[in-house]
Amino acid sequence: MNCWHCERPAHGVCQFCGRAVCKQHAKTHPSLIDVFRNDKGAYRALVVADALFCGVCRPQEDPIDLPDLS
Ligand SMILES: [Zn+2]
Ligand SMILES: [Zn+2]
Repeated sequence: MNCWHCERPAHGVCQFCGRAVCKQHAKTHPSLIDVFRNDKGAYRALVVADALFCGVCRPQEDPIDLPDLS
């Protein structure tokens, strides 16, 4: 697979959309990998601060509401 930006061989894949990117064009973006509740019942999020990011797509900070599918 080649880089989305420059068509040279890619070094990795964006964690958010799956586009391939080379080292030169790779960026990083915080990625939410898990959400859990602590012993007080509060929600806590586990975040990777520098997940591989293509620079093209738009990861959202918060989950979005899904429309009613029924
Ligand atoms: Zn590139
Ligand atoms: Zn992406």
